[in-house]
Amino acid sequence: MRPNFCPQCGHALDRRALDDGRERPVCPACGFVFYLNPVIAATVLVERDGKILLVLRGENPGKGLWGLPGGFMEADETIEQAAARECLEETGLKIALGETLGVWSFFHDLKNTSGVVIIYAARVIDGEPRAASDSLQVKFFAPAEIDALTLAFSSHREAIASWKEKHVTGHKSHASK
Ligand SMILES: [Zn+2]
Repeated sequence: MRPNFCPQCGHALDRRALDDGRERPVCPACGFVFYLNPVIAATVLVERDGKILLVLRGENPGKGLWGLPGGFMEADETIEQAAARECLEETGLKIALGETLGVWSFFHDLKNTSGVVIIYAARVIDGEPRAASDSLQVKFFAPAEIDALTLAFSSHREAIASWKEKHVTGHKSHASK
């Protein structure tokens, strides 16, 4: 994101190097400094009967590719609430969160954003899968089926690999691509 105008007074922003040496958008009229802080996203690996829930993404980044359900945290919710809300919105499933599978930094050139995604294991507690929000399809896949798919994000692939290490009996990590 490259903001052009001051959110406080509407004046055009300049770019200035501040004391920390980084050039930032600064308002010459009121002095407001526009800090471009990364966003936080919550994503879930929902397992049911040994299969993993994926959504076919209808929006960029990753439009037309399968991925784990998830999205950005709102200012008035916890990261756990964000994870459950995004899953319900995209898949129609109510979930209970399990362990944290990992934390990844990401950079989306397309939307020019950066952020952190936290991926949780989860299980279904209510509902039937249905596509909604920005997902086109919702489906449970066997782990071996997922190996053949192109996923939207490398963090999702790595989280699934981490989950398989712990939960799939006899899984050999070198057998996956
Ligand atoms: Zn201003």
